[in-house]
Amino acid sequence: MVEGYSVGIDLGTTNSAIAAVTGDEPEIIPNSDGERTTPSVVMIDDNDETVVGQAAANQAVSNPDRTVQHIKRHIGDEDYVVDIGDEEYRPEQISALILTRLLADGESYLGRDVDSAVITVPAYFGDAERQATRSAGEIAGIDVEHVMTEPTAACLAYGLQETAQSDDAESHDKRHVFVYDLGGGTFDATLVEIDLEHNHIEVQNTDGDRQLGGEDWTQRIVDHLADIAQEEGGVDVAGDHEQEQRLYDAAVRAKHDLSNREQTEITVPYLGPDYNLETTLTREEFQDLTEDLLDRTVDNVDELFDRADMGVDDVDEVLLIGGATRMAQVADTVEDYFGTEPLRSVNPDEAVAMGAATQAELMSSGGDTTADDVLPGDEDLLLVDVTPQPIGIELHDGTFAAVVDQDEKVPIEESDDRFTTVMDDQTGVRFPIYQAPPRRPRTTPNSARWSSRASPKRPPANRPSRSTSRSSPTGP
Ligand code: AMP
Repeated sequence: MVEGYSVGIDLGTTNSAIAAVTGDEPEIIPNSDGERTTPSVVMIDDNDETVVGQAAANQAVSNPDRTVQHIKRHIGDEDYVVDIGDEEYRPEQISALILTRLLADGESYLGRDVDSAVITVPAYFGDAERQATRSAGEIAGIDVEHVMTEPTAACLAYGLQETAQSDDAESHDKRHVFVYDLGGGTFDATLVEIDLEHNHIEVQNTDGDRQLGGEDWTQRIVDHLADIAQEEGGVDVAGDHEQEQRLYDAAVRAKHDLSNREQTEITVPYLGPDYNLETTLTREEFQDLTEDLLDRTVDNVDELFDRADMGVDDVDEVLLIGGATRMAQVADTVEDYFGTEPLRSVNPDEAVAMGAATQAELMSSGGDTTADDVLPGDEDLLLVDVTPQPIGIELHDGTFAAVVDQDEKVPIEESDDRFTTVMDDQTGVRFPIYQAPPRRPRTTPNSARWSSRASPKRPPANRPSRSTSRSSPTGP
């Protein structure tokens, strides 16, 4: 019996990619349009027929109410639903439709069934987002063998590339790689130790922002264009989905253009009955409009190094991953920060899917590839992740006590925290378990309620500082 294939899938906010190991190496599987990435856009028509990818993106202007984009920004949010016609769709159902398209493209390219996959998520995703991503795979009818973090997958692809390009023993030395991953909707900063001699890829520290990505840069241009339209033509596009979508498309084009040019012309005809928007945006203006967004990524990197056991100077290589790292200011900022030019050899759009495909091949029962076929060491591949946020319990006074800190290596074998009851003769305790909420107050519901127990580590800047008292779990 021919076993089904196991593939690697980078399920992105803006674009997704699928790869598989064919022969000895991973390769990106082009979609049925011949493209190596597929827009993560879904259109569901009046007859419940779905269209996914570029064709859906093309209809976003004419059919904005039935088109869903950037669903990854909501994955894991229990309260979020998309209303299309009379139907409600959960984020994992929309994500499953994207996966279904990728899998169909994979099956037609490989000429075999695809029955399992490794799907990637940002390192900074919490448990809810990871579980919802896994559910999306299950809804799409595949066995999700592993939910792998994007920087780990990128480092695996980088390790493979290093191996392919050099037999030099020195290139297999242990090294520290910093992965700056700015996708469409998320930012991950990850410090990874790669030991190619022993096939070990160990995340050391991770930080990031689940609500910061290239789409925020686009939105700044959209807002800028909307202001011009208002001032020049008295046109207010707010609430007009079709015109908003046209501004969005123009903003994306301008943003991409500015990655290669110093200025770009933007034209949106008939934005109002008598108004055509025509303007020029320079790279400098764009950088001014978005400076604070880039600063937020730098803050995350600073916070990571505040916790790390090593300094910026100990980083050997810097990898840029995610389409938004093509913006000129990103590479410049990263280069200034680390004092070294980021590596350009790893394709920012494809590395994650390629790494995931390698892991899928190594994990799948049907795969006959072993780690020493693809990596220099002869040991099994060992991938170690860390907890992206602290995990803890709610105490009787409503505060949060971290039991597992951020950046603990997974799996965690034990924790020696002790908690007491709050009353004499108490017969039971209730201790809800939480993964700490996002640290930024604007995305943190009830942030005032949260604080955590004493810890030797410095508290991240925008989380309430840790109290030194030890209190007990919630009462009976
Ligand atoms: P990803 O999810 O990694 O595909 O990243 C998608 C994000 O990268 C989107 O916000 C894109 O607009 C952005 N992006 C892709 N190509 C470029 C480019 N050439 N210049 C600037 N941003 C880009």
